[in-house]
Amino acid sequence: MAKLFFKYGTVFSAKSLNLIATAHNYQTQGKEVILLIPEIDTRSDGHVATRAGFKMPAELINDDTDIFDLYEAYLKHKEKIDCILVDECHMLLPKHIDQLRKIVNVYHTPVICYGLRVSYTLQLFDASKRLFELADKLEEIKTVCWYCNHKATHNLKLVDGNPVYEGESIDIGGLEKYVPVCYHCFTEPPKDA
Ligand SMILES: [Zn+2]
Repeated sequence: MAKLFFKYGTVFSAKSLNLIATAHNYQTQGKEVILLIPEIDTRSDGHVATRAGFKMPAELINDDTDIFDLYEAYLKHKEKIDCILVDECHMLLPKHIDQLRKIVNVYHTPVICYGLRVSYTLQLFDASKRLFELADKLEEIKTVCWYCNHKATHNLKLVDGNPVYEGESIDIGGLEKYVPVCYHCFTEPPKDA
């Protein structure tokens, strides 16, 4: 039975690397995968890219995209799609998650979404909330805290080395930096960080 997966983690938890490894596994068996990435992630440039330097082309999803229609358009020239892989899924809209859910139900194609759970302002991302509501399977991709090596659960935003706790939940392309942290280091990051 095909499932809708939400594989969530903090920044620096190798989510995109995990996605590319999964895509590679399907492709080496001659199977068809579709990679999706939100257009709002301007760093993507139509690709899923990893910090380790791996890159694969991906379909850009904007607010007006109906992913179910996009999938059916693929089926006009592909016999079968074996898996859909979504990067940075927290930047999608909740309606996109409903469209992905419909693909799983109607076409029995597995969909694996990779993304963040909460923003640096400690809010669930809207699309992540929808995934918690609709996914068949939730899986945490783990990494360690930037400062203390406990398990990271949150994303700390640093601007010029200083923590920032308020603002838009999605901001892209600035000079800010995000690090994975445990909750203790989130609230009291070490001074010399
Ligand atoms: Zn810590």
